[in-house]
Amino acid sequence: MGVSELARALREIGFGEVYMREGLRKAKTAVAEPPKEELLRSLFDSYRDCKKCDLHKSRSQVVFCDGDPRSPIVFVGEAPGEEEDRQGKPFVGRAGQYLNKKIEEVLGLRREEVYITNVCKCRPPGNRKPLPQEIGSCFPYLKRELEIIKPRVICCLGATAGEGILGRKLSITKVRGKVYSYPFDPSVQVLLTYHPAYILRNPKADGEFTEDLRTLKEIAGV
Ligand code: SF4
Repeated sequence: MGVSELARALREIGFGEVYMREGLRKAKTAVAEPPKEELLRSLFDSYRDCKKCDLHKSRSQVVFCDGDPRSPIVFVGEAPGEEEDRQGKPFVGRAGQYLNKKIEEVLGLRREEVYITNVCKCRPPGNRKPLPQEIGSCFPYLKRELEIIKPRVICCLGATAGEGILGRKLSITKVRGKVYSYPFDPSVQVLLTYHPAYILRNPKADGEFTEDLRTLKEIAGV
């Protein structure tokens, strides 16, 4: 029985407001989920030894997530690089440092105040792009991660992240700055932008990246 049905049933059998409020409080407590950190930890435990795709052969460790699971913003990148694979954290190399700087400058937040993850949790050999079947094998982990976090906005960094989240091919130069609905939960918005590594190679794109982060700030309400 849901909370509203419980309230109706209590009213029908003559419970006063005070008893009803107490009943609702207890009902809410009884159905409360474990904290997000706990849910994420058990999710990670479920795949830290995953061998579902060939990327397990080239990794040193599975790279999970970083940041605040209560943040309204989730950044999703492609896959761990060399430094991420070594440290076991996403976006800790040069591209990550650039991302941290932009999060501070444009969003006015610290890295610890957003949530950061990847579509593939293991490093592809030579930092190549993950293959569609590797993204498909790994997606159930990201999907569950997003169910736990339930952010206001998912910001996809690069085409691979966008394709993983939206489930279709796209050209990032055509769709950057655009906002979509997350197919598995239309209340969650999806913003597409460049991967920070692309900006490091093409510094002229920094202005567009800044513009996209301003859009992110507005729709996330931070
Ligand atoms: S990339 Fe994902 S599916 Fe592939 S081995 Fe790593 S955790 Fe498993």
